[in-house]
Amino acid sequence: MTTGARLDDPLPTELLQRARALRHELHRWPELGFAEHRTQARVRDWLAEHGYRPRACAGTGLVAELDGGRPGPVVALRADLDALPIDERTPLPYRSEVPGVAHKCGHDGHTAILCAVAARLAALRDRVPGTVRLLFQPAEEGVDGGGARVMVAAGALDGVAAVYGLHNWPGFPKGDVRVAPGTVMAQEHRLLFAVRGRGGHASEPQRCRDPIAAGARLVTALHTLVAREVGLAGGAVLSIGSFHAGTANNVIPDGAELRGTLRSVDVELGERLAARVREVAAGEAAAAGLQIDAQVERTYPAVVNDAACVTRVAAAAARVVGAGRVGTAGLPLAASEDFAYLAGTVPGCYFLVGAGAPVGATPGCHHPDFDFDDDLLDVGARICLGIVAAGGA
Ligand SMILES: [Zn+2]
Ligand SMILES: [Zn+2]
Repeated sequence: MTTGARLDDPLPTELLQRARALRHELHRWPELGFAEHRTQARVRDWLAEHGYRPRACAGTGLVAELDGGRPGPVVALRADLDALPIDERTPLPYRSEVPGVAHKCGHDGHTAILCAVAARLAALRDRVPGTVRLLFQPAEEGVDGGGARVMVAAGALDGVAAVYGLHNWPGFPKGDVRVAPGTVMAQEHRLLFAVRGRGGHASEPQRCRDPIAAGARLVTALHTLVAREVGLAGGAVLSIGSFHAGTANNVIPDGAELRGTLRSVDVELGERLAARVREVAAGEAAAAGLQIDAQVERTYPAVVNDAACVTRVAAAAARVVGAGRVGTAGLPLAASEDFAYLAGTVPGCYFLVGAGAPVGATPGCHHPDFDFDDDLLDVGARICLGIVAAGGA
């Protein structure tokens, strides 16, 4: 063992190569939320190889713990395991072998980072204060309310003083770390509108109640809602991502279905807009003389960072990337994250590691061309290790 080695020193080349190979293997065999069986087995093997005794949690998740050589609190680090229902479009040598499923959010990278952290902690155990609990979480991408909630319910955070998690972010310059106290990721309301009209011949609209026309007005009204109800400070976004109706050019259909998302930084603003969305749907239904069933359902809450945890992350990040590259610009993000359930249970901090170079030129998360940047393996792991080295809580 190298004497004087710090926990957050650059990763040894051999470990970095193994972490990269693991990342590519996970990328090649992506799995959807709560179905990460192969991923779970692979991570379990990795952990066992480094002396851990991981246990299953939330079905396809894992929890592993390492007691350090010095007194200290229990600190949790979290990675997400799941991929997305997207077709891989890249020419990568390790491109997805599973049709319709691909790692397009970089969770393969997050998992490899936490595996590298596990290896490093095991190698430098006598430098580790307190206890580190590693959380490999299934189903971040919105399946059945998120795997983080299930892990919390299963006791994954019992006895934990603080929890930390990271996400790669192509929207920020590569090597930048963005972290801030308070809300960093928005809360989400999922929107579903079932428009029930009366179909008929397209040549006789007067005998119909046209759900397409009503749906189109509803989209416009909803977009106007945010523009008119949210002032300069902003803090909300509403998008309709799907609008399905009809089968033929000369038939007015009976119904239409629209789906969308409402993101808001502020809990009160989110609830107020959710109520207004229902009112607008009811108003458009009345105006069109048909029925609109509006389901407005809160999915993930906002991710709210604890100030003391943020200070620790910022200090750990500054040691790795330099203080000049650690900041709050661009936060909060309108994306949402089930890390919210972890940071809502114990003090926590979620931070973003930039992966874009230059900004805008890199495909964003969830884009078919996206791939995790392997250069982040070292940076991400070292920041996590720095958090642990600092006591973490
Ligand atoms: Zn995602
Ligand atoms: Zn993600």
